[in-house]
Amino acid sequence: GAKKAGGGGFCFFDTRMRDSASTRLKEIEMLRHALRENQFVAYYQPIVNLSTEQIVKAEALVRWHHPQRGLVMPDEFIGLAEEIGLISEIDDWMFGEAVLCSKKFSALIDAPFQISVNKSALDFTNKVPTKNLAIYLASFKLDKGTICVEITESVLLNDSSIVIDKLAELQKAGIQLAIDDFGTGYASMSFLNKFKVDYLKIDRSFVQDMAANKDSRIFAETIIVMAHKLGLKVIAEGVETVGQRDLLKAAGCDYAQGYFFSRPVPLENFERLLQIIKT
Ligand code: C2E
Ligand code: MG
Ligand code: MG
Ligand code: MG
Repeated sequence: GAKKAGGGGFCFFDTRMRDSASTRLKEIEMLRHALRENQFVAYYQPIVNLSTEQIVKAEALVRWHHPQRGLVMPDEFIGLAEEIGLISEIDDWMFGEAVLCSKKFSALIDAPFQISVNKSALDFTNKVPTKNLAIYLASFKLDKGTICVEITESVLLNDSSIVIDKLAELQKAGIQLAIDDFGTGYASMSFLNKFKVDYLKIDRSFVQDMAANKDSRIFAETIIVMAHKLGLKVIAEGVETVGQRDLLKAAGCDYAQGYFFSRPVPLENFERLLQIIKT
């Protein structure tokens, strides 16, 4: 159905509606319009250091503020944006927001503050010359380590030179790299052996099963040990309970994010969270 259970969320791109070509054209036009009219908004979810419980980073997550429908979640429009080739523009816009935000927060706390952005796997397949990417990245005058790019394992499946060149170009610009939703895909093991990233993000499905399911717990613990042996830090996603936090802490996980600490919030609210730390 069009309404998602239990929330104000409205599913735009209903499968029934999708059958109609004219509806599809309308959906596409709505998305392009959203980009032109600046209807996308960046929300920020705190990432805490598990040993101090202080907010040390944040992940930027896109929302669509539709004038009639209200807040639309990414799962409802990222797929279509990828299909019609609009995702790179959305991701670039988010990147710009994240840079502004990290500069602002770094000034606020008087120390480098890292923001993570998500980059669609499709962005790694198109053939934007890496030379242009370097010039584009240089234009932001980034401070080292203030931006982290999150990629999914599907990016690594295609371990072509384009992917490697782009990742290397991001690193050269002082950007850190994280593998998102780690454990749900394939191919990462061989890739990790070839290319050094900075973080693994344990997918929330394992985190949420940890307390009840011994296999998920062992899986999460093993990822943490392996990551540390490879010199990578681990971020746990989707921490919702004190029990999950305690298990992760006991397993030596470095960072965590999840509703237990905070939901993703608009910029103003996030600033307030950071002010609390400062004082
Ligand atoms: P992701 O990158 O794995 O982001 C984490 C998702 O988990 C976010 O959903 C976040 O709100 C949600 N989350 C965080 N903590 C909890 C928790 O404790 N419990 C539960 N149930 N969920 C939690 P969101 O914001 O709806 O984003 C969904 C996905 O959409 C993201 O997954 C990412 O793959 C994609 N996405 C979001 N923003 C962007 C963007 O700017 N560009 C691209 N290409 N993809 C994006
Ligand atoms: Mg992510
Ligand atoms: Mg994730
Ligand atoms: Mg995810």
